[in-house]
Amino acid sequence: MSDIRTYDVIVVGAGVIGCSIAYHLTRAGLKTALLDQEQVGAGASGANFGMVQSNDAELVHSIPMVLASYRRYETLEEELGMPFGFRRIGALRLLSTEAQWKTSEERAGILSAAGIPYEFVPPERIREIEPMVDTSTLFGGTYASYQGQLNPFLLMWAYLRRAIPLGLALHTFTKVTGFDIESGRIRGVHTNRGHFSAGAVVLATAAWTRPLGKMIGQDWNIHTFRASAMVSEPVYGLKLNTIIATADHIEMEVTGKGDAELTVLALSQTADGHFLIAQADRPGEETNPAISHAAPKTMAMMAGRFFPALRGARLLRTWTAATTYTDDGCPLLGPVRAIEGLILAASYRSAIVHSPLAGEVVMRMLTTGCDDLLDISAFSPDREMGKSAETIYTVKSSHSGAMEENS
Ligand SMILES: Cc1cc2nc3c(=O)[nH]c(=O)nc-3n(C[C@H](O)[C@H](O)[C@H](O)COP(=O)(O)OP(=O)(O)OC[C@H]3O[C@@H](n4cnc5c(N)ncnc54)[C@H](O)[C@@H]3O)c2cc1C
Repeated sequence: MSDIRTYDVIVVGAGVIGCSIAYHLTRAGLKTALLDQEQVGAGASGANFGMVQSNDAELVHSIPMVLASYRRYETLEEELGMPFGFRRIGALRLLSTEAQWKTSEERAGILSAAGIPYEFVPPERIREIEPMVDTSTLFGGTYASYQGQLNPFLLMWAYLRRAIPLGLALHTFTKVTGFDIESGRIRGVHTNRGHFSAGAVVLATAAWTRPLGKMIGQDWNIHTFRASAMVSEPVYGLKLNTIIATADHIEMEVTGKGDAELTVLALSQTADGHFLIAQADRPGEETNPAISHAAPKTMAMMAGRFFPALRGARLLRTWTAATTYTDDGCPLLGPVRAIEGLILAASYRSAIVHSPLAGEVVMRMLTTGCDDLLDISAFSPDREMGKSAETIYTVKSSHSGAMEENS
C-alpha cells in the first residue's frame, strides 16, 4: 500500500491552479498525486465565469506573471490537445464618476506600459462597442480589447486529460486531515483515505488554506468571502459583444447592519446565448456555500440598471462559492520557510489568467530547486503584509439598495 501511495509531489486542491500544477509536474516527469476533498472544480473554480482577465489582479508585482500567462493561452489548447472554449473578447468597465476614472489610471498606466491595450472611452464610444448598455448615468469607461473567456470546467479537464495518461494519480473525495512532518521536513499527508507519502506537498487550496495552515502552526493571511452568481436562459435576440463590469456596487442587508451583499456587476454571455450575471460578495471568513436571499435581487438590480434589455430574462440557476483575497492583493506562492518541502500556490485573484504560469513556476521550483522564470519574492507565504490592496470586502454602510461608489 505504501508503495502505491508514495509520490514525488502531492498537490492538494483540484481547482484551476492545482490542475495546472499537477499537469506541469507530471509533464516534467515527477510522480505526482492530485488530491481533492470533493471532486475536480468543487471550489471557486467550478463557480467562476472563466474570464481571462486581470481586473482583480494586483499589478505592480504580478504584471510579468499576467503577461507570461496571456502568452501561454495563445497555444495552450494546442498544447493540451483539447479545446476549452478560449476566445478573445473585449472587456468594458463602466465608470459612473470621475473619481472612479482617476483610480483606474494607475492600472491603465501599468497595463499600457506592459503592452496590454487598455483605453479610456467616453459614453458615446461605449454605445458603439455595446449598443444595449444604458450610458445615461455614466461618466465613461475603460475598454480592454485583450481579455478572453473560456470554459473553466473544460480548462481543468484539459490539464487532467493530458496529465493522467502521463501518470498523474487523481484522488477525488480524499480530504487532507493532517500533515506528516519530521524534523522540519514534510513527509506526506494524512487523509480520510489513509496516509500519502511525498517529498513535497503543494497546497492549492484557496479558501481552505488558512485552516490547513493552522493545523501546523501557520497563520497565512488569506481572507475568505462568498461570491454569488447566476445564469439566465438563453436570450436569442440579445447579443453582448464584450464582458461588462461596473465600478459601482450596491450594498444590501442580509441579516442586519454590518451583514450585507456587496454587488459589483459582471456580465457576460456564453456562446449559446445564456447570460452569466455576477457578483454578489458576502464578507465573512466562511466556506459555507449557501446563497443569501439578497444576492439574486442585488445582481438582478445591477444587471437591469446597466443593461435594461435583460429585465425580462428568466433565470435558470444561482450559486455561491468561497473566494479569497489577501491584504496586499498578491497570492501566496512559494516555499514555506518553516517546513521544508511545503509549497503554497493559493489565493490568486484573477486565477484563470494566472493558471498556466502557476503550474510552470511551481514545476520549475521543484525541478531546478529555484524559480528562474519570474521573480516571485513578493509572493512569499512568509512575507509581512501591509494593507495595500484595493478591496471592497468590508461593509461600508448598511442602507438597503444604496448605490455606492467602489473606489
Ligand atoms: C462567481 C464567481 C465568478 C468568478 N469569476 C472569475 C473569472 O471570471 N475569472 C477569474 O480569473 N476568476 C474568477 N473568480 C475567482 C476564481 O474562481 C478563483 O480565484 C479560482 O477558482 C481559485 O482557484 P483555485 O484553484 O486557487 O481554488 P479552488 O478552485 O477554490 O480550489 C481549491 C480546492 O481545494 C480543495 N480542498 C480544500 N481543502 C482541502 C483538503 N483539506 N483536502 C483536499 N482538498 C481540499 C477544494 O475542494 C477545492 O476544490 C470567480 C469566482 C466566483 C465565485
